[in-house]
Amino acid sequence: MKVTQAEIVISAVQQSQYPEDNLPEIVLLGRSNVGKSSFINTLIQRKGLARTSSQPGKTQTMNFYKINDAFYFVDMPGYGYAKVSKKEREKWGVMIEEYLQKRENMVLVLLLVDSRHEPTEDDRLMYDWLTYYGLDPVIIATKADKISKVRQKKAVDNIFNTLRPRKRSDVILFSAATKMGKDEAWEVIEGRL
Ligand code: GDP
Repeated sequence: MKVTQAEIVISAVQQSQYPEDNLPEIVLLGRSNVGKSSFINTLIQRKGLARTSSQPGKTQTMNFYKINDAFYFVDMPGYGYAKVSKKEREKWGVMIEEYLQKRENMVLVLLLVDSRHEPTEDDRLMYDWLTYYGLDPVIIATKADKISKVRQKKAVDNIFNTLRPRKRSDVILFSAATKMGKDEAWEVIEGRL
């Protein structure tokens, strides 16, 4: 898809703030710092639209990015950041569940995991929760430029065996630095729009 328009429409913390123009939504989930903002910026070819941060856990809002007046990327607040208080974690849980269980506009869930490491306990819980609710996420294995070709293959094997998606093509190796996986990601997204 050629992106000609991309803008952040709202940073929401509750349902009443979600956009009401009824466009399809692609949701991004993953632990803090996994590369969600970088993924969005790479796909839409804008360096700074989605705010990347070296301070994990900062954004506790759901950011709606409107693309080409055709759909939204919804960047969910990251999980798994140790310094976040119990109260904030609870708030996060409510925000995420409120969205994932009720949002009819949602057409695809992308779960981002770091290709350099085993999926974390939080990644597994998130994946299981999503599949339990029938959401069938596609997994984006980020930061693939940081590991060798051999390790990239092992990472996909590992993710496939740990999270157990339906098919291997549900795991996409991705790099914001080299743009690896960009075309595959767009293909999946366009398939749902
Ligand atoms: P978010 O918290 O999930 O939105 O993560 P960000 O997109 O802010 O990325 C966190 C950090 O990882 C930043 O310093 C990014 O520059 C870096 N990063 C993200 N994706 C990649 C990637 O594909 N390759 C490399 N080398 N660094 C990345």
